[in-house]
Amino acid sequence: MKKDYYETLGVNRDASDEEIKKAYRKLAMKHHPDRNPDNPKAEEHFKEAKEAYEILSDGQKRAAYDQYGHAAFEAGGMGGGNPFGAGGAQGFDFGDIFGDIFGGGRGRSNVHRGADLRYNLEISLEQAARGTETQIRVPSMAACDTCHGSGAKPGTSPTTCGTCHGQGQVRMQQGFFSIQQACPRCHGSGKTIASPCKDCHGAGRIKQHKTLSVKIPAGVDNDDRIRLSGEGESGANGGPTGDLYVAIHITPHPVFQRDHNDLHCEMPIGFATAALGGEIEIPTLDGSARIKIPAETQSGKIFRLRGKGIKGVRSSAYGDLHCHVVVETPVNLTERQKELLRELETINLKDSALHNPRAKSWMDKVKDFFGQ
Ligand SMILES: [Zn+2]
Ligand SMILES: [Zn+2]
Repeated sequence: MKKDYYETLGVNRDASDEEIKKAYRKLAMKHHPDRNPDNPKAEEHFKEAKEAYEILSDGQKRAAYDQYGHAAFEAGGMGGGNPFGAGGAQGFDFGDIFGDIFGGGRGRSNVHRGADLRYNLEISLEQAARGTETQIRVPSMAACDTCHGSGAKPGTSPTTCGTCHGQGQVRMQQGFFSIQQACPRCHGSGKTIASPCKDCHGAGRIKQHKTLSVKIPAGVDNDDRIRLSGEGESGANGGPTGDLYVAIHITPHPVFQRDHNDLHCEMPIGFATAALGGEIEIPTLDGSARIKIPAETQSGKIFRLRGKGIKGVRSSAYGDLHCHVVVETPVNLTERQKELLRELETINLKDSALHNPRAKSWMDKVKDFFGQ
């Protein structure tokens, strides 16, 4: 959705030309790409401010923008991209396409596209990896069954608003400008309801719940969104329905951490296994695998199991599983165990350069550092 030009410049809708110029200068200085070489967003902000200024500094363009919003400058919607040509916006119902740009009834149309909804769906890592289908229950505004969306009590119907004569908006004189505003009486709908429907209180829409089936494709990751077209809120006055976005959140897994399509896990091994080597079984998302631990394996070593990660949602390749070795120091030792370790240590120390080269070389460095 394009940002409102006034908002972009940070000025009020009734800002003077001088205020608009000042606001633009300030933003242009702040976001100029030459002053922000390391910030790619700056250029975007700079362009936005420039565009907003080009429109709002031109009286004719500003008036068109005030009346029709961004739609005034959309090539397709205006026929050949000439917003001021013969016929102008007449006969074109912008509301169909640009309904929600106008917010609360600005512009000439009161037709609004329904709002998009977001649903946060929590799934397990296994479900994300394999794909799943699940049911969700979502709140939604739906046309009221009692009045079929008209908002009027059954047997009655809305009448044309006398204040705006059904236009939904009124012209207000503001300085030199004549500005269109939403009709204060009917709030832009162009109609008034003498006896409102008692189920929806005249809104024509009521809050409901619906159950939807969502197919989660294999490989989805956090912050992926699945769009359910037309499952958002229903539009106002015949406007199109919004979309529902199902945002994926993956529950943290007790064993695996995910990084894109790769998986990582910690693999604690005993101190003797690390020294002597051995074979251990590790879990994977689809069962288990055996890893051969070579003798003299150190903490921090990573064993990579190709293809044991996750298949990307947009690719056919599988990621890898990375097992990070952590050599565990034995704890809760008995006297016998301590005795054996002391004996081992005594032997090791007889030639520490051979048996504990890292510790030995570190000690040597420390000695050098203290100049001994
Ligand atoms: Zn109703
Ligand atoms: Zn009215």
